[in-house]
Amino acid sequence: MPFESYKTSRILVTGGAGFIGSHLCERLLAAGAEVVSADNYFTGSRRNIAHLIANPLFEAVRHDVTFPLYIEVDAIFNLACPASPIHYQRDPVQTTKTSVHGAINMLGLAKRLKARIFQASTSEVYGDPLIHPQTEDYWGNVNPIGIRSCYDEGKRCAETLFFDYWRQHGLPIKVARIFNTYGPRMQPNDGRVVSSFIVQALRGDPITVFGDGGQTRSFCYVDDLVEAIMRLMVTNEDVTGPINLGNNSEFTIRELAERVIKLTGSRSKLVFKPLPQDDPRQRQPDLSKAKATLNWEPKVALEDGLKETIAYFKHSLEIA
Ligand code: NAD
Ligand code: UDP
Ligand code: UDP
Repeated sequence: MPFESYKTSRILVTGGAGFIGSHLCERLLAAGAEVVSADNYFTGSRRNIAHLIANPLFEAVRHDVTFPLYIEVDAIFNLACPASPIHYQRDPVQTTKTSVHGAINMLGLAKRLKARIFQASTSEVYGDPLIHPQTEDYWGNVNPIGIRSCYDEGKRCAETLFFDYWRQHGLPIKVARIFNTYGPRMQPNDGRVVSSFIVQALRGDPITVFGDGGQTRSFCYVDDLVEAIMRLMVTNEDVTGPINLGNNSEFTIRELAERVIKLTGSRSKLVFKPLPQDDPRQRQPDLSKAKATLNWEPKVALEDGLKETIAYFKHSLEIA
């Protein structure tokens, strides 16, 4: 399936009104595809896709993936799932259902259609990792009964389902383990570190660093991620993943706070709050597999991506 085949494809994006999903819809339309977004708007919003509605190749359907979906498409990107801890912990049972029942329904749909299906998995399958950086063959260190488990174990079970549909039914699957991604259209109140720090800095509020801020994350700009997802979907059928996608420049949370303060010119000060339960200590993707199979690597430096994201929040929050 060459990249050009997007031109002639009808594609379903679940979670299409979310942060990453809306960028993916935009990019697929630009590649010439016809795109159907299926989203229940739990954490996404119609505002994220408002600029696409007038495009005759785009359609937005209100649908919860925990229910079956009968539709005719050539390929499926399964992104539906709340992604920030405060959102996925609001209704943890629904979070697991979305990952697990959502995967079963979308895999059943793909099986009937003999369609390629992509799963947005996560670095959270590695939990609080005991090896660093994380390679795809690492099985992870996940607490099965903690407050993050609905997300982590839901995503792990979804991966199991993807690989069983592949083994049992010969379904063409593409599983990506996405590391922390940021950019325009993140929600200002989603509690994720990049959006929270930027909004706090722009408002002159204290920057809430959890723990001592020495924990690390590696932040990927959304455009780089979407490019990798687009390439992965059209790689050879034998490339199933799982494959790490992200950026491997690693920063402490404290460094991130300092950069955000510098780039916004804010007078906000850091305040230290307790570290949430099971908060991973460090995280950095090993990207060797992605680089070799997709001929891709992230291009956007943290500083540049933060500038774009700050500009977006300034505009959307109407902070001059
Ligand atoms: P998001 O919350 O902005 O997007 C998720 C979308 O899924 C939202 O539009 C939401 O309304 C929709 N949704 C939730 N439950 C649904 C349901 N039951 N039925 C239909 N739609 C539903 O989050 P995002 O950051 O864009 O994440 C997109 C995907 O990427 C998620 O699967 C997430 O787990 C994965 N991911 C994201 C990151 C990241 O750093 N942003 C990292 C790893 C994995
Ligand atoms: N499914 C769906 N759309 C389809 C086909 C199936 O939503 O076009 C759902 C259906 O609800 C089913 C699930 O996918 O429960 C799994 O389908 P599969 O064929 O694998 O299993 P079965 O139908 O035998 O339970
Ligand atoms: N974090 C923080 N202050 C905040 C929000 C998050 O210090 O206001 C920390 C959080 O404890 C974690 C890191 O930033 O160590 C990334 O958090 P996020 O929720 O963005 O992503 P995840 O933990 O899922 O990687």
